[in-house]
Amino acid sequence: MVNTALLKADAEKLGILINDEQLQKFELLSELLVEQNKTMNLTAITDPDGIAVKHFADSISVLTAYDIPKGARVMDIGTGAGFPGIPLLIMRPDIDLVMVDSTAKKLKYVQSTVDSLGLIATTLHTRAEEAGQSKDYREKFDVVCSRAVAALNVLCEYCLPFVKVGGMFIAMKGAKAQEEIGDAKAAIKLLGGKIVAEKSFTLSDGGERTLVVIKKISQIPPRYPRPSAQIAKKPL
Ligand code: SAH
Repeated sequence: MVNTALLKADAEKLGILINDEQLQKFELLSELLVEQNKTMNLTAITDPDGIAVKHFADSISVLTAYDIPKGARVMDIGTGAGFPGIPLLIMRPDIDLVMVDSTAKKLKYVQSTVDSLGLIATTLHTRAEEAGQSKDYREKFDVVCSRAVAALNVLCEYCLPFVKVGGMFIAMKGAKAQEEIGDAKAAIKLLGGKIVAEKSFTLSDGGERTLVVIKKISQIPPRYPRPSAQIAKKPL
């Protein structure tokens, strides 16, 4: 149910080696995803090539943007069906991963899938902008990543609050990355961030990707993140 040869090949192009044990976990993950997708709306991508490239290879590409320290605290905001979180965890079971989503049903699937894979991670049911004001989570993470959740200016307000000073936020962006970066410059500065790298690549299906690596260089002002309604009404 996942084209493992294609996954391996795409990963190798990114400079990532997937071992047999990890490949088996990717196979099981694809089965669980396709099975659960029959009864709930998790993903539109269910073909073996699409799962290999658009879900798995794309997710693990995060590893090429930044060398995540061993045992790092990592957060995936708006994980949905577990992307990029679960593939990252398969590749790096040492990370202390928290996967966040505002939809409880999806997180239930994510937690049971992580358990079935014999891995350990935490799921957190909340809106990012709420947890971002909680002392339990604010500025507590070494790395925060996120895919397909919001435009970069809004995404920064969701994600940067969780990053420790000195830590990294990795935004996974598509073909419109440059435009989004242009629109997010002021937000990044205001929230204590600085773009330190932009890594662009093309997946084997032709999809263009850019990983925007934003370092947290100073503490975030207390008023951010603002309540959801304000973020929606007046995005930074
Ligand atoms: N990252 C996944 C899912 C993308 S869909 C992937 O790339 O496949 C976007 C997800 O973000 C949805 O599951 C939605 O519930 C969640 N989401 C959107 N806004 C959110 C917010 N403010 N806080 C937490 N989760 C959010």
